[in-house]
Amino acid sequence: MPHRFALFTQRPLVLTLVALLACGFLATSLLSYYASRSSIRDSIVHTELPLTSDTVYSEIQKDLVRPILISSMMARDTFVRDWVMAGERDGLKMTRYLKEVMDHYGAYTAFFVSDTTSTYYQAKGVLKQVKPEEPRDAWYYRVRKMIAPYEINVDPDLANQDNMTVFINYRVLDYQDRFIGATGVGLTVDAVVKLIDKYQQRYQRNVYFVDTEGRIVLTGAEGGPEGARVGQSLAQLPSMKELLAQLPKPASGTYEYATQGQGHFLNVRFIPELDWYLFVDKREDGALDSIRQSLYLNLLICVVITAIVLWLLNGVVRRFQARIESLATLDSLSGLPNRRGFDLLAAQALQEAQRETRPLMALMIDLDHFKQLNDSHGHLAGDEVLRGFAQVLESCLRHSDIICRWGGEEFIVLLKDTNSHNARLIAEKIRQRSEQQVFRYADKALRLTISVGLTALQADDSLHSLIARADNALYRAKKSGRNGVCAEQPISHYE
Ligand code: GH3
Ligand code: MG
Ligand code: MG
Repeated sequence: MPHRFALFTQRPLVLTLVALLACGFLATSLLSYYASRSSIRDSIVHTELPLTSDTVYSEIQKDLVRPILISSMMARDTFVRDWVMAGERDGLKMTRYLKEVMDHYGAYTAFFVSDTTSTYYQAKGVLKQVKPEEPRDAWYYRVRKMIAPYEINVDPDLANQDNMTVFINYRVLDYQDRFIGATGVGLTVDAVVKLIDKYQQRYQRNVYFVDTEGRIVLTGAEGGPEGARVGQSLAQLPSMKELLAQLPKPASGTYEYATQGQGHFLNVRFIPELDWYLFVDKREDGALDSIRQSLYLNLLICVVITAIVLWLLNGVVRRFQARIESLATLDSLSGLPNRRGFDLLAAQALQEAQRETRPLMALMIDLDHFKQLNDSHGHLAGDEVLRGFAQVLESCLRHSDIICRWGGEEFIVLLKDTNSHNARLIAEKIRQRSEQQVFRYADKALRLTISVGLTALQADDSLHSLIARADNALYRAKKSGRNGVCAEQPISHYE
């Protein structure tokens, strides 16, 4: 009987098949995964991040570059310079001027600080006198000593998350290029912060600005990397260690780095108007999640398909094995077990009978003058008679009896649990039915007689000795004129 898992017996086939399927599936899944991954990386590095950077840059230009131009115009304004050099008479004129600038250009505030009188003018009037010892006025004394024409100051004291204020502090020089004060506008960078937040939330991109020293100068509401705040230096952040090894000082370019096992893509762009660097950072996992999921799904499908293929193959192999086994143990002409089949069945039957001391009879049957039949009617007629006789034989026996086409026109029957008397009756029945049966072949009516040798199983019998005795009995049946049944002694002592 074939094994339920027929493939267990076909290990090399299974291993080869599984290896082939696994290699094929793995190769295609991994190839497509790596191809998609590299195209996603490419599009992040070469398209997405630069595009974000462009958008933020143009927004920053709108928000910051225009105020720098306005401040530059204020610093160059002949009214401002003439009014200061004429002794700052009529403060209202300056106030009106600043109000005009503020209203017209939509600035948050416009200011002028005179170096001669240390007066801080605003659109609403004189705000105060600046003093070197006042920490809040430190910016003025810094600008006073500065070589660059202007600075951008994001004042941490004034700044808050939603309404960050940036001052453009421009040096005002007289016509001999002597420093006479500082002017400029203050503005909120709401639009930029909102844009940064949008990118942060919608596209999981971290956007922030860093000055030339690597200090964070502007971030969205959620802060810079790891929530770092304005004023913090990138060098202070442990997560930036790997990046800082590639980028000790901010520089434009595209970078890839990892922090806490997490890959990052980074685009850095210099903004000359501000002397700042714009950092646009994207984490790898978010971007690659979907293709990683499809890889896992692919692999799962591969496993399922492999299992289905193995299951189908198992069925096919099982059917074939069953078929081959039955072909190997059955005689193709008569459909009865052949010697191979008989050996398997007989060995078991003998063992059982001897162990349980139950009677078992062996019949050896030979067709009489079969050669003659073949010679006169042809081999095909002989075959037909053999087939017909096999049916006659089967019809005389029980299911539990063992029949075998021993070879040529000889048959063996083992009758289980049958004494010699009954065996003789059965043998006689077979003989009579064969004699009476008319076998038809090509409109010919063929007749047949048989000789039967009969013997009983002994305690010390082997299959060989049992058959040899039955054969002797058959020989005697032939000798005594055929078409008869002869028994070979000793008859079973179990009876
Ligand atoms: P006996 O009564 O002494 O047994 O005479 P016999 O002619 O039957 O005996 P013998 O052993 O001389 O001949 C057996 C014949 O059976 C010879 C052989 O051609 C024929 N035979 C054996 N197997 C087959 C078969 O499969 N088909 C056919 N048609 N004939 C077969
Ligand atoms: Mg013979
Ligand atoms: Mg014969």
